[in-house]
Amino acid sequence: MAHIGIVGGGIVGLCSAYYLHKSGHQVTVFDQTTIADGCSFGNAGMIVPSHIIPLAQPGMIAKGMRWMMKSTSPFYVKPRLNLELMRWGWLFYQHATPGHVERSIPVLRDLSLLSKKLFQDLAVNGDLSFEWQERGLLMLYKTTVAEHEMAEEANIANRAGIEARLLNGQQIQDMEPKTRVDVRGGIWYPGDAHVNPGELVRSLVSYLKKNQVKILENRPVTGFTKTGAHVTWIKTPQGPVKVDGVVIAGGAWSPDIARQLGVTLSMQGGKGYSFMLRNVGDTVRVPAIMLEARATATPMGNHLRFAGTLEVAGTDMTINMNRVRGIVQSINRYYPDITVDMPAADTVWRGLRPCSPDGLPYIGKSKHLDNVVLATGHGMMGLSLGPATGKLVSEVITDKVSSMDISSFAPDRF
Ligand SMILES: Cc1cc2nc3c(=O)[nH]c(=O)nc-3n(C[C@H](O)[C@H](O)[C@H](O)COP(=O)(O)OP(=O)(O)OC[C@H]3O[C@@H](n4cnc5c(N)ncnc54)[C@H](O)[C@@H]3O)c2cc1C
Repeated sequence: MAHIGIVGGGIVGLCSAYYLHKSGHQVTVFDQTTIADGCSFGNAGMIVPSHIIPLAQPGMIAKGMRWMMKSTSPFYVKPRLNLELMRWGWLFYQHATPGHVERSIPVLRDLSLLSKKLFQDLAVNGDLSFEWQERGLLMLYKTTVAEHEMAEEANIANRAGIEARLLNGQQIQDMEPKTRVDVRGGIWYPGDAHVNPGELVRSLVSYLKKNQVKILENRPVTGFTKTGAHVTWIKTPQGPVKVDGVVIAGGAWSPDIARQLGVTLSMQGGKGYSFMLRNVGDTVRVPAIMLEARATATPMGNHLRFAGTLEVAGTDMTINMNRVRGIVQSINRYYPDITVDMPAADTVWRGLRPCSPDGLPYIGKSKHLDNVVLATGHGMMGLSLGPATGKLVSEVITDKVSSMDISSFAPDRF
């Protein structure tokens, strides 16, 4: 039995631990903080096979420039004289092309559909306890510009085999009988689903601990010992740990971890915020993205979670309440009857989406190392893609035939 050390206890690290354990490995997960603090905990909880178009797409740069002018806008790049940010921006620009979008659609679709199938299995196989809801996803819009963009997106999705239905305002209202929805229309993706990510993460941790997987919190990985292309020890301030294989699932911090092994990963943290409206019952039934505002609403049990913004900010974790105000102000434009007060700063959650420049994750071995798998860079879809990534990691580490072709996700692709 090989001992695999996983650096990072977010959804990707924990799903990797789950499938590695299932395939008979001894597993230790290292996290620099407590598991409940990461990006995987307070996100919008959407499982999105609908998201087949990568963030690097034509028109995105112009849109981003317009949004950057407003302090409450949903997108922002913190200006910094930083070589890594400049390289990331250049790679993003190079990949924002129709050709890249066309090549990415089938691979993102296959990865998402694999993940959804694994989620469906996890929801019923008895290992975990979390609420799995298949009510789809609504992309709501108020403007004709968004309507045209969405009609095109729905066509692309349907052509790729992902069902998308264009609905008018009344049809959307009929889906939400308990609250008014003030929109021009929307797309309904019936194949999407949602979970409470915190509940899922807690359940994974509890299952793994019961099954002899070691979860070491507040245990930062500070380096590695290598023999040639083979990593033999993981270094931590509390002492080294001997390993036969390593998974780097450090989210937005992965480039710092990979650098210690001589691997360059281009990545930026895309900071976002969320907060909960408590005890509102099922006011909103179907998770929604409020398109022009780039904010989301997800029912979670008796509560409703709002989330949004993408600030390209490295690994800066400070909370900018102006951006949170932007989310708050946008909600009533779509749901006029929901009263949302500005949340107190200490009730706002923030997380860093690990954003690769081409919008595809990094999954696979670096060609310079024979027992290290990188599993990161999932951007806005890390929760959705967690199970599929974990399964692929468990296959790649032992060079088994993998569940799908992962050459597009090669960590050394730039
Ligand atoms: C506002 C918001 C809403 C979102 N909504 C959704 C959604 O609806 N659906 C979806 O699919 N995705 C969503 N996402 C994206 C998703 O949350 C992320 O893609 C995902 O959580 C990334 O998971 P991860 O495991 O790669 O990284 P993380 O969850 O960040 O985990 C990485 C872990 O590595 C640890 N680490 C880092 N360095 C070290 C080190 N040196 N030693 C030890 N540990 C280390 C960190 O402490 C961290 O816990 C959202 C994100 C945000 C911010």
